[in-house]
Formats: sequence, structure tokens, C-alpha cells
Amino acid sequence: MSQVVFGTRTLTNSANTKPASADSNFLPGPVLLLGAPGVGKGTQAKLLMAAHGIPQISTGDILRANIASGTPLGKTAKSLMEQGQLVSDDLVNQMVADRLAQPDTHRGYILDGFPRTLNQAEWLDQHLAATPQTLPVVAISIVVSYDHLLHRITGRRISPAGRIYNIYSNPPATSGLCDVDGSVLVQRPDDSEAVFTERMKTFDTQTAPVVEHYRKLGRFQEVNGDQPVDQVTAAINAALLHLRQA
Ligand code: AMP
Repeated sequence: MSQVVFGTRTLTNSANTKPASADSNFLPGPVLLLGAPGVGKGTQAKLLMAAHGIPQISTGDILRANIASGTPLGKTAKSLMEQGQLVSDDLVNQMVADRLAQPDTHRGYILDGFPRTLNQAEWLDQHLAATPQTLPVVAISIVVSYDHLLHRITGRRISPAGRIYNIYSNPPATSGLCDVDGSVLVQRPDDSEAVFTERMKTFDTQTAPVVEHYRKLGRFQEVNGDQPVDQVTAAINAALLHLRQA
């Protein structure tokens, strides 16, 4: 996997947030952010990263960085992603194994968009069991109604630096341009309504069982994502504290 590109956003920071020094009283450890496409996993992961000083590991971002760099992994992933289908478990598991081996993960990390199949979840459970951990993994599932998700996904526009807007709920001051650097905003190819429908089907058949898997294992909490971003963040932090004290 030497040719895999992780992308600067996954290793360092997003455009909107910077990793902050962690609160010495609270160590989140490994956190899984679960939920359908558009529930806000990426936004919340970046905020958690900033608050707790641990990296966000987004498998979608890593795959997009590989597509942009034209790696063999990117070439394999591109058409699957454009159709709203999943990249194979073996490729994604190996990608995550490589990323988790990097030293910035030792105090904890947020896995955003992984695991997405039961096979990936079982692989992760075994991988973590075989790796000395400071803390056990906890899972947070963000839940949002279907209609809200449709608007969030089809309205999403992203700047080249990774700033996220929404033409319905968070439009830029000038249509189509980033407020911060004036760059042209783009729509991800998989954010069209047709692909969204396909991604939701994929979620229902392949990823919903992962949510049930972690619900049964415990150290799991559901958070209502149908509320303002800062309230979702507060609910996630409360859930993390609760799960860490359990
Ligand atoms: P995301 O940015 O998390 O919404 O992911 C975008 C796309 O990348 C998904 O629709 C899949 O095609 C692919 N992808 C991301 N994470 C995974 C994963 N854990 N397993 C398989 N495919 C993935």
C-alpha cells in the first residue's frame, strides 16, 4: 500500500478547523462515527478533532485523495464511488490498517465512514483486539430523517480547500464561491439525487447492520442529528463522556 495517499486533510486538519491541544482531563480514545450519507459525520469529526486534538480518519477522504493523485487504489475506487457503491472490504481495511499504524493515532482517533459493512466491522474488532489500546472503541450513531438527508446531500458544495457549504441551509455570500478564499465551489459527483438514492440503498443493506452490531456490543449511543450543528456536537460530547465513564 506504499502508493496510497492519505491526503493532507486526514493527516493534519480541515480548512475549517485546526487540531487543538487536547483536554488533559478527557481522552476520547478510538471513536466510530456511524450514520447514513449526509448525517454530518465529516462536520462533527472535524469539530471533535479540533476539540480533542485527535485525527479524523475519513475513508471517503482518503479514497478521494487517491483518485485525485491517480493511484491504482484511486483508479479502482473512482467508478464505484461515482455509482454510490462500496469499495471492496479488503482494499478499505488495508487502507485503514496503514492509517492506524501512524503515530498520530496513539491517543485516539475518529473513524468517519468506516466500518461500512459487517465484514469491515469484524475486521476492525479483530484488528483492535490484536493492537494494544489505551481505551476500548466507542460508537456514536448520528440519525437524521430521509428528507433532511436528501437536502443536505444534494445541496452540498465544497471548496477545493475542503470548506463545506449547503445551498439550502448554509449558502456562501456569493453563489458558487467560497466566502474565505473566493475559490469556485464544486458538487461531489456522488452528491446527485440519483447517486444519493443508490447510496441510501447501500446504507440500508450493508451499513445498517453495522450500527446494530455496535448497538449489541454496547459502548454505543445514538445522537439526534436533526438539530443545529453545535447541539449535535454537544450531544456527541455528552455521549462520549457518558460512554467513557461507563
Ligand atoms: P463518504 O465520503 O464517507 O460519504 O464516502 C464516499 C464514498 O467512498 C462511498 O459512497 C463509497 O463509495 C466509498 N467509501 C468510503 N468509505 C468506505 C468504506 N468504509 N467501505 C467502502 N467504501 C467506502
